[in-house]
Amino acid sequence: MPNEILYRSVNAQTKLLCVLGNPISHSFSPPVMNALISIYNLNFCYLAFAPNDLKKAIEGLKEINFLGANITIPFKENILPLCDSVDQLVEEIKAINTIWFDGEKLQGYNTDIDGIRSALTDYIDQIGSYAVFGAGGAARALCVALKNKNGILVNRTEAKGKKLAEEFGLEYISLTDSPKIVPDIDLIVNATPVGMAGQTISTIVPTSWIKKCTFVFDMVYNPSVTKLVEQAIEYHKNVISGVKMFLSQAAKAFSTWTSLEPDLEIMRSIWREITN
Ligand code: NAP
Repeated sequence: MPNEILYRSVNAQTKLLCVLGNPISHSFSPPVMNALISIYNLNFCYLAFAPNDLKKAIEGLKEINFLGANITIPFKENILPLCDSVDQLVEEIKAINTIWFDGEKLQGYNTDIDGIRSALTDYIDQIGSYAVFGAGGAARALCVALKNKNGILVNRTEAKGKKLAEEFGLEYISLTDSPKIVPDIDLIVNATPVGMAGQTISTIVPTSWIKKCTFVFDMVYNPSVTKLVEQAIEYHKNVISGVKMFLSQAAKAFSTWTSLEPDLEIMRSIWREITN
């Protein structure tokens, strides 16, 4: 007996979406997006690929009429020159996580910033200052979302950290120096993969920093309770979840392709379903 869902729903008219990253086996995007597709009863299918050559992969998707894709590590920056046009936020963040084939034109968007804004929305007025660990695309999106607030940027690679800190008027502190000081900041953000399932180091944020702050935001969403989140709970801090960021950026990407706008409750119910 064929798989009933595929047998009934996938046909020659099915519109194709995917995520491109390398590695990609850890990605939660296929189950989340396929659940959305099913809820809205669309004739779409969302897959995952780990190409070595991004340019060839994009040419292939275009040739076989893919509707769009999510772009993840390590391609979020390399995709920029392959796009025909990008929205204004992409110009600031310099990273793309969602593409849409609009006829012959490839459009690039960054929905990570929508995820960040949604995750911070309840607290934004109480956040005067922040410290971000990391200097990659996610850290850059955070800096754009918190533009004009004071802050500290901590990064392992000095040149990259200093460059981003300077661009957003932040103070740079090296990862090795970070345990030697205790800054007075409202929000701490982990924008590195540290704490993710499979990583050898569980946290890089000094405990003294956590004790002093008010809000802790870990962008890592797998596991949903990281070592950093555990410590934040232990010290009675307000925890901002990487899961909320993930679900909100996914909802925004989905609406880029479909014009449908799934609310956070729908996204949360999908998350509960696929993680239980
Ligand atoms: P990225 O561009 O590759 O940047 C990674 C950053 O983490 C770099 O600054 C890197 O430092 C630092 N880093 C990596 N491994 C480290 C280690 N072992 N110790 C200290 N620093 C380390 O990645 P990204 O796109 O910014 O994403 C970063 C993380 O954010 C992801 O891994 C993911 O966990 C999270 N994220 C979550 C969502 C969500 O929806 N919740 C969305 C996007 C990203 P160097 O400069 O020294 O290499």
